[in-house]
Amino acid sequence: MNQGNPQPVKKSHFVRNILILLLCSALALSALTASLFFLDQKGKLEPYKYRSQHSTEDSKGKYYRIASEPSTPTTSEEPTTSSMIPEQTSTPTESTETTESEIEGELSGYVIILDAGHGGRDTGAVYPFSNPTYHECDFNLHIAEQVAAELSSRGAEVYMLRTDDSWISLYARIAMTHLICLDIAEREGKLPFSSERADELRVMLEGTVAINEDAVGLGGMGPMVGSGVGEDLEDLFEMEYQLDQVIFLSIHLNSSERRTLHGTQLYYVTDESVIESERNQMRTNSDFKRSDFPIREEYYGRHNEDNELLAHCMYDNIVGNLPELQTNANPVNADNYAVLREHGLTGVLIEVAYLSDDRDRSLLEEEENVEQISVSIGDGVVIYFHEKDIP
Ligand SMILES: [Zn+2]
Repeated sequence: MNQGNPQPVKKSHFVRNILILLLCSALALSALTASLFFLDQKGKLEPYKYRSQHSTEDSKGKYYRIASEPSTPTTSEEPTTSSMIPEQTSTPTESTETTESEIEGELSGYVIILDAGHGGRDTGAVYPFSNPTYHECDFNLHIAEQVAAELSSRGAEVYMLRTDDSWISLYARIAMTHLICLDIAEREGKLPFSSERADELRVMLEGTVAINEDAVGLGGMGPMVGSGVGEDLEDLFEMEYQLDQVIFLSIHLNSSERRTLHGTQLYYVTDESVIESERNQMRTNSDFKRSDFPIREEYYGRHNEDNELLAHCMYDNIVGNLPELQTNANPVNADNYAVLREHGLTGVLIEVAYLSDDRDRSLLEEEENVEQISVSIGDGVVIYFHEKDIP
């Protein structure tokens, strides 16, 4: 567990059943999804290297920019879009001369960073609890792939922090997020500091990605080490607070030994939820007593209300389209997840369903439900930007 990041206990077992399921699911996917992940030789999926001179061939911590795809001509089985979608939005052009990430769609001009939780040696939640045959990390990746395809088909610029079953440290994921934001801010002339300062921050963050460790003592937390916010992180936050067109979505599944819990839950952070949690940690967590663990100024300035709005947009659309996922736990929660806390983007963590619940689990095994969840998340993103009136 890292600094207020209540991830489930990790266990690692390789499971044949889920891989067979995923393989079958992958084969059954639409041409759109398939083209995203299997046609990299044709340039449809390309590693996004923010600075070729700094990039390495190391597979650790690479993140991928998903090239936009023209919407596949829809059949009568087109996933239904929610009635909650604003009327004016969906105007995908019929132009066939689309260039990479130039699809005209309701999400053109918006950027979504997708984090498929866990992976590799960190399976996330498992079921059954002993001799598990289901691993959360596999579901997360599959759902994130579907969401990437959905968002991409609507014209969004999509980045995935994990695209295979590799382990990527929490802080490497956050460093990648900062690096993507540095590129976007620079591209759009929104750097709140000099390009020299941007390069300095890049070098630091690339180091964090390369170390790829969460442990405090190994230096893998980079500028994110400590409670509160240091100077480097403050600069990054200030930059990211201006990137209204960029949001962050982390995809997870929930699990509980209370087998009655089920449904979708959303988590987000606010200044207060982070500060309150860190004050508690200072009393109870031995990491906070380490001499190399800085205790810094508390920092106010997050887009608290935007985070909450995004969480509600996600919950309302997922449950609106799949009422079976209405939860009997708290639907929308302010908390202190590091993956949301350590950057300045509006973002949420989606616990799509409970792996420990029989009905939720079988729902996730139906590919059409995963597609419906992805469409719902796409709808939620559209409605969020519409509500915010972000151009
Ligand atoms: Zn998880």
